[in-house]
Amino acid sequence: MTRLRTTAVHGGRGDLAALGVHAPPIDLSTTYPIPDQAEGGLALQALAEGAAHAASPVYSRLHNPTVARFEEALAALEHTGAAVAFGSGMAAVTAVVQAACVLTSKPHVVAIRPVYGGTDHLLSSGLLGVRTTYATADRVADAITPDTGLVVLETPANPNLDLVDIARVVAGAGAVPVMVDNTFATPVLQNPATLGATYVLHSGTKYLGGHGDVLGGVVACSDDHAKALRQIRIITGAVLHPLGGYLLHRGLATLPLRIEASQRSAVELARRLSGHPSVGLVRHPSLPGADPHGLVGTQLRGTGAVLAFTTREDPTAVVRRLRLVTPAVSLGSVDTLIEHPAALTHRLVPADDRRACDVPDDMLRLSVGLEDVEDLWEDLEQALSGECDRDYIKTSSSRSRALAGSH
Ligand SMILES: *Cc1c(COP(=O)(O)O)cnc(C)c1O
Repeated sequence: MTRLRTTAVHGGRGDLAALGVHAPPIDLSTTYPIPDQAEGGLALQALAEGAAHAASPVYSRLHNPTVARFEEALAALEHTGAAVAFGSGMAAVTAVVQAACVLTSKPHVVAIRPVYGGTDHLLSSGLLGVRTTYATADRVADAITPDTGLVVLETPANPNLDLVDIARVVAGAGAVPVMVDNTFATPVLQNPATLGATYVLHSGTKYLGGHGDVLGGVVACSDDHAKALRQIRIITGAVLHPLGGYLLHRGLATLPLRIEASQRSAVELARRLSGHPSVGLVRHPSLPGADPHGLVGTQLRGTGAVLAFTTREDPTAVVRRLRLVTPAVSLGSVDTLIEHPAALTHRLVPADDRRACDVPDDMLRLSVGLEDVEDLWEDLEQALSGECDRDYIKTSSSRSRALAGSH
């Protein structure tokens, strides 16, 4: 087993030399010639039963070699036997709920808030026939019933960077599988499977892709659990497009470097924001008081590059005044992104529930990118200080928007 950076660069590339290529081929075939139809039938049978690969992919909803290389690389980074990729992070969450709750007829989920707004909405909506009890990390055991099929948590949590002790929740869950959404930490900073999590989920759309140009999701788990996920993927058609598989695989190579660089800037920005008169509370695992259970340096190898802060200014106005930071949902891109969770990502979480899990209405979430930290600070400072007057907005910002051809 090679070390992190080496695995990130070389994972999933073992077959390339024999193919005589350097970059992984993007296999766009939807169907594959099957001269011997009886043999093809056996391949179809194997894939339908959840095998990782067979003599022929048969049809690209069943298997795709480009996607499989990404899965192999991600599994190596997460120290799991397998990984199964999906068309989005939400498709991956859906497949885990179907595998753990629907297939097993255990329609009860215990979840620790906050989680990503889409996950919260999926679990609360009853759409998949599940009902969800929200519990705090120390009350998971009390919330479990004979019907409980899955425990769900995120750490660091979206959007307030709460840290949850994974091993403790796994202990409380007993025999019930635990899904950890590892999107914020990435395998660079945290490997939940080594702490007993059954499913390690990523929205690949974020750090794994890393450039804001690919939507995808992936679940790292044992090969046994992967079988059910592959079966579900085949039946529901929640597949990742091979171009997405290629881009996510390519993103992994630079993942450790991107996390290290953006994390360094995030630590600095969190520190400076904490001292700014227009800023209330700053949330980042690097700050004093953010890690009451001592998880940084043990469970979590770094502090990550997403932070959140409340502001005494109107959050909408602060975002509008920014010139460099991109006002957009999503995170983990090369550029710094800011969004207002109460208005956007966590809008569908009932306001009372949001406040109860410590996501105040005046909180902004900042995903720190790869720009020079001094440029980011200058932009945040002017936006928070309200220094940017209307003339500047008119002459500069609207002109550059007009030039960019947007409305
Ligand atoms: C974005 C996100 C998701 C959903 O992923 P999509 O790729 O947008 O479907 C799930 N969990 C977390 C923590 C996220 O940030």
